[in-house]
Amino acid sequence: MLDFLPDSLVSILYPQFCGACGRLVEKSVDGAACSDCWAATRFFDKQTGLCPKCGVFLTDSTSSVLGSCGLCDDHQYDSAHAAGIYHAALAASVLHLKRIPTIPRRVRDCLIESTLRIDLPNDYLVIPVPLSKKRQLERGFNQAAMLADTIAKHAGRQLDEFTLVREIDTPMHRVAMDRKAREATVKSVFNVIRPALIENKHILLVDDVMTSGSTVSQCARVLKKNGAGKVIVLTLARAE
Ligand SMILES: [Zn+2]
Ligand SMILES: [Zn+2]
Repeated sequence: MLDFLPDSLVSILYPQFCGACGRLVEKSVDGAACSDCWAATRFFDKQTGLCPKCGVFLTDSTSSVLGSCGLCDDHQYDSAHAAGIYHAALAASVLHLKRIPTIPRRVRDCLIESTLRIDLPNDYLVIPVPLSKKRQLERGFNQAAMLADTIAKHAGRQLDEFTLVREIDTPMHRVAMDRKAREATVKSVFNVIRPALIENKHILLVDDVMTSGSTVSQCARVLKKNGAGKVIVLTLARAE
């Protein structure tokens, strides 16, 4: 947004303090975190040992083919991927994005790099995990839709942010719940209102952060029930 101004001027006019360590962010392209915290962030690459299904971090290097983590076998998406671990600069960026509707250049670059690592179908729709109408009105925007829009524009794919909807609010205290309780709260929350638009289409489902995977799994279930082909998940960050 402020890329046309020199960084020194931006930091005087709109000082941004790092969401991870509290120091001043010197470059506006870095968004919510300072360059040290970006450097300390664990990003995934082709060598990182991740669960082939849910993308959770398993080990630093892959000397052999890894099996599934054992916790995601019943998840309904085909595979899930993220730019890196939800900590340091990625955690700060996710939290910042819930308040400020702009995508800093560094976040955009992370997303684009991540899409290049994924084995995507030739054609696919980009769909964000929706907020409920109530939550979207309160916030004024859906941060997942902003990330999805960034990916769709870069990849030259169609963005569809209206077909998959969230009917009711998920309670805010879900982080404190165990896996079973979380799964119960997201069950039947999502719905497809225009099935013809996703029928036989592959989907890249986008969200800001993936924790247990219940939310994206429920989205994938309802998308597939309504005729979608593959559902591949991409999030900016992945909880350990
Ligand atoms: Zn920092
Ligand atoms: Zn897994």
